[in-house]
Amino acid sequence: MIAYLSMEVGIEPGMPTYAGGLGVLAGDIVRAAADLGLPLVAMTLLHRKGYFRQRLDAAGRQREEATAWNVEAHLEALPARIAVSIHGRQVVVRAWQRRVTGWDGATVPVYFLDTDVEENLPEDRLLSHFLYGGDAAYRLAQEAVLGIGGVRMLRALGYADIRRFHLNEGHSALLVAELMAERLRGEGRTVPAEDDVEAVRQMCVFTTHTPVPAAHDQFPPALVERVLGPTPISEMLHRCCYGGALNMTYLALHFSHYVNGVAMRHGEVSRRMYGGYAIDAITNGVHAATWVSPPVAALFDRRIPGWRRDNFSLRYAVGIPRHEVWDAHVAAKLRLLELVNREQSPPFDPAVLTLGFARRASAYKRADLIVSDPDRLRAVAAAAGRLQIVFAGKAHPRDADGKHLIEMVFRARETLRNEITIAYLEDYDMTMAGVVTAGADVWLNTPHPPLEASGTSGMKAALNGVPSLSVLDGWWLEGHVEGVTGWAIGEDCRESLVQPVDSATHAAALYDALERTVLPLFYAHRDGFVDVMRYAIALNGSFFTAQRMLQEYVIKAYQREGLSGPQPPSPREHQDVSRPAR
Ligand SMILES: *Cc1c(COP(=O)(O)O)cnc(C)c1O
Repeated sequence: MIAYLSMEVGIEPGMPTYAGGLGVLAGDIVRAAADLGLPLVAMTLLHRKGYFRQRLDAAGRQREEATAWNVEAHLEALPARIAVSIHGRQVVVRAWQRRVTGWDGATVPVYFLDTDVEENLPEDRLLSHFLYGGDAAYRLAQEAVLGIGGVRMLRALGYADIRRFHLNEGHSALLVAELMAERLRGEGRTVPAEDDVEAVRQMCVFTTHTPVPAAHDQFPPALVERVLGPTPISEMLHRCCYGGALNMTYLALHFSHYVNGVAMRHGEVSRRMYGGYAIDAITNGVHAATWVSPPVAALFDRRIPGWRRDNFSLRYAVGIPRHEVWDAHVAAKLRLLELVNREQSPPFDPAVLTLGFARRASAYKRADLIVSDPDRLRAVAAAAGRLQIVFAGKAHPRDADGKHLIEMVFRARETLRNEITIAYLEDYDMTMAGVVTAGADVWLNTPHPPLEASGTSGMKAALNGVPSLSVLDGWWLEGHVEGVTGWAIGEDCRESLVQPVDSATHAAALYDALERTVLPLFYAHRDGFVDVMRYAIALNGSFFTAQRMLQEYVIKAYQREGLSGPQPPSPREHQDVSRPAR
């Protein structure tokens, strides 16, 4: 049995238990495990008040509204109760269950931990309410519920024989304290030795998801002491500190026998960041049956029956007649335009090339790059053909830079009003992601390298025959074949860690690619454009799937007998890759 722990899991749109790519990926892993009949259980927090509902005013200023959801309608309450010591109090935790069903009926249980029970003090009842809300003490307490409470709940539910604990990001790293406690208890000891560390390591697999240091949780030792009290690993925590704070990434690195980044380049970047640790790479993938839009799924069912069971068979998309691929895409595009045109004036035009850009509004993703030089963009459209752009994405409530990006896009919409139609869809979620990634003609991706660890929305697009126009970072370094599966923006700058490429250079490359290559192909050589669509499915849609990703985890992480443990970190080798030039 494998236990998969994640602070967020995106099960379905009606359950706001995810914030972005990390949670959607966790949901896709669970769906793929159910398809494969893999013995896996997932553990997360309930997030009774969800993430938030995004409202945008006329100037693009984001307001957040609570999104309470009907837990009972989606989940089954379980009788089991466990407790976790937080601030010296025994906080009672219960669990809710959801069974996710695979293509042939096998199921994977997902457990949602909940502290909102009568026995608890009001402040403790709040611990399972807000995803990524609250202050450091709140976050640390949530992580104790997820990590320590997660292991205890699994035992209470009868999972005695768990071979691997998979930490999806560092949020669940405190589970190692509980695994250590179990081991010592079993042997009647209280002080752990190096052998015990090694034994815990054999059970843990850690996936790191971002090279942006701000996204790595860290907590001052005094806070850790206050919230958690003494734990069996308290004496070892200094090994997992960085800059004087307990760093959950280092905690997970230190106690895991297999560690990976989420794309080849991200593996390299992570090895540079955490010198001394063996870090492999398993490139992310998306759950095909979830992300293929209905018209394209109907096409695959007709032409490649069996694609849901064996995603690799999508390779045969190369042989689907062009007009069938195009017709399915047009149906998906009309679904998108129907959504956009509910609010949009002037309306989007089905004949016009539509660029899609939808992801968390975070500074490094640079949503504003395409509109950074409005005059040049106007000239591109005048010379090579019209285009329209659909945006969507939420900024974290405390991310001022992310919120500013949305306002910049709104400003550009006014500036370009008469030449280029721009829409910004409110309240991005999984449903909208499905409609936008399938309905755009070209998927735009402009992160600041090397900060996009993987990116998965471009994979959703590829499955639907939507080629990417993307900076060479994350998964696109592996999926890009120029003019075959899509187009690069600029060069691969391997040294971007040391010598960042500035945004103006990427913007110029983006405008050139649109003007010289993408727009002429779309308007004047439609067959050539549809060839790119078919290769996007055959080469990338068939491969960047959660099914392939999970198979890699089985081979490289779950089945593997542990190798020797990692070396202690050497802080001098830690490089800060967080400061891109703007
Ligand atoms: C797929 C998805 C993401 C991830 O997008 P990236 O391109 O990886 O940033 C984020 N949010 C939602 C709702 C998604 O479905």
